Parts: sequence; C-alpha cells; structure tokens
Amino acid sequence: MKHLLSPLILKVGLVCLLSGCNPNSNVQSATNESHSHDTETETSQVGENPSGPIVCVTKQLYSYDEMLEDLEILQQKYPQCVKYELKAETYQGRQIPLVTFGNANAKRHVMVMSAIHAREYMSAQLVMSMLEHYASNYDNGKYKETTLKNIFDNVCFIIVPMANPDGVEIAQKGEKGALTADVKQWVRQNTKEGTKYDQIKSNARGVDLNRNFRNGFGKDRRYKPTKNYSHHPGPEPYSEIESVFLLEVSQMHDYALFLNYHTSGNLVYYGCKNAQQSVNNAALKLSNIIKRHTGSPLYGPDTSPACGSWADEVEVLYKRPSATIELGSKNPVPIAEFNGLYKKNLWIWADIALAVMNSQF
Ligand SMILES: [Zn+2]
Repeated sequence: MKHLLSPLILKVGLVCLLSGCNPNSNVQSATNESHSHDTETETSQVGENPSGPIVCVTKQLYSYDEMLEDLEILQQKYPQCVKYELKAETYQGRQIPLVTFGNANAKRHVMVMSAIHAREYMSAQLVMSMLEHYASNYDNGKYKETTLKNIFDNVCFIIVPMANPDGVEIAQKGEKGALTADVKQWVRQNTKEGTKYDQIKSNARGVDLNRNFRNGFGKDRRYKPTKNYSHHPGPEPYSEIESVFLLEVSQMHDYALFLNYHTSGNLVYYGCKNAQQSVNNAALKLSNIIKRHTGSPLYGPDTSPACGSWADEVEVLYKRPSATIELGSKNPVPIAEFNGLYKKNLWIWADIALAVMNSQF
C-alpha cells in the first residue's frame, strides 16, 4: 500500500519551523481538508485545526517539560475531550502524567503507554502529536464515515505518554537530566565505561522498567543482576514507582486492549507465550489492524517468552490483547523519520477504537 505524504504533515512541519512551535503564534495553519489515508478502501474527513500545532514535531529532543506544557495547552484548548492529571512521583521528583482522551464515562477503554524505555522518547512525541490530531478534529472529524466524537464518546483512551520521565531526561541530557548526586554520578560512571547516556533504557535507579513486571520476571536472556542502563529487572517485580503506577492505571478500567509504543525496529510484537490462546488470537487481530496502516512485520508469542515486560503482564493478568509498536530504524530515532512514522500511525487509534466500538474486541 502506498503512503501518500499528508498535506497536514507538511504544514505542521513548516509551521513548527516558522513559529518555533509556539502554540500562541499567529501563524494560521493546517486546514487539514485532505488527509490522505493508508488504505484504498478507507476514507476519513477531518475538520479544521485553526490555530496550528502545539506539539513540536521537528525537534529531536522532545522533553518532559515540553510534554507537560503541551498537555496543559491541549487540555485548555480541548476541554471537551482532553484531561490530564499528574499522578505518581518518580525517584527524581518528576510527576508522571495520565491523560484521558474522549469520554471518561465511556463504556469501553483502551490503555496506551509509551516511553517506558528512556532512549525511546520519540514514542512520547508521536503519541502526543496523535493526541493533538484527534483532539483538534474531535468535533468535526470523521473516520470511515463515523464521527470521531461518536467513536471516542464510546471508546475512551487512557494514555501514559511518558512512563519513564527520569530516564528520558537522562537519555536526552546526560547527567544534566539527573537531579540527584547519586544519579549524576551513575550517569558519569557509565559514560566513563563507554556507554553513552543516549542509549539508556532504564529509569534513574538503573532498573529496566519493562522488565520489572511479574510475568517472566528475571527470565530475560540479557538479564543484568545489578543496576544497569538496560535489562536489569530490579530486585523484585513492582520495585519501581513507575511500574506500580502503570499497574494502578491498568486497574482503573476493564480495558478492551493495550497499545504500547516503543522504538525501534519498525515492527509489531503481539501476544505472550504463556497467555491464553484466545488472548493471543485477539492480539493477532489487533496487530493486523496496525499492520494495515504501517505495513510492519508481526512477531507473535512464539518469538519471545515472557520476560517481565508490560505486554507480558497485562495479557496474562487481564486476559486482554496487547500490541507493542516498535517505531523507527534505530535508537534514538532520528527526527527526520518522524513525519513518515506519524503518517503511517495516525489513524490507528480511530481504526482500533472503531473495532472496539463494534465489539470486535
Ligand atoms: Zn522499548
């Protein structure tokens, strides 16, 4: 399937450059009247996005603070569909935001999680810009002849756009991103030993959060016994504030499914080796929807045994399908790849929400 470059992307990119991503800029932009879409049979019409982009999509390092500013602006501008709260506080004192998109009292819910791995911060930037897209088109946009308002009134998205803010700040700024002396020292030490800070996946305590869950805990083949930039699962499942927070969010609703954004590989993982067959079948169905948009190859439950990841956890704990979308060609993903990733991934939320609304999950 051919992916046409969306006029919105060009405009957003251009306006972002012109305005320095200042949402209060006077630049009028993005009459996104002619969104292209990924498949031949699907069409979508969206309304106007009159005051231009909020989330910057031209900057390599999309920071924790920028995300918080963007959330505040999005909530003020689109109060009918965007709400956020600052919830758990990390080791470095950063609060993790939790975003509700759509009707909080909807019958069905989808949980979205991104940037659990530090160096994978582009996943937060993508999720935030997708949130802006859907919010700005909530009142007037359509997907497959169904209004976005109808879709997201029925299926609410609960989003953790940056599950690991401490790690992201270190991956972006090195020891300047660390706020306490012990963590600064740890970052310096790793740099001295030859691992650059931009490759960190863990949180500020040296725990790989995506190995800190119960199902398959400690079973990762790249297991590291002590604090490390990656693959150290921590002393026990849920030893980390961030992991406990994700568990709490996952207990808030009976989710229809889980979407997890990571980088890199341009592929999708689905299912879990020790999940029920019916869950893995549903995860394949979910991943095939994603594949129709991105064209990414799918890797199923036989390719990776449970290793304490979030996807492993929820599929066994809640018996609900999960898909892990790996974005981009390398880590960190170069910003030059952003537009292409955005374009391919943009309509996945609407497509999946529509499937949930139609009781396919
Ligand atoms: Zn990852």
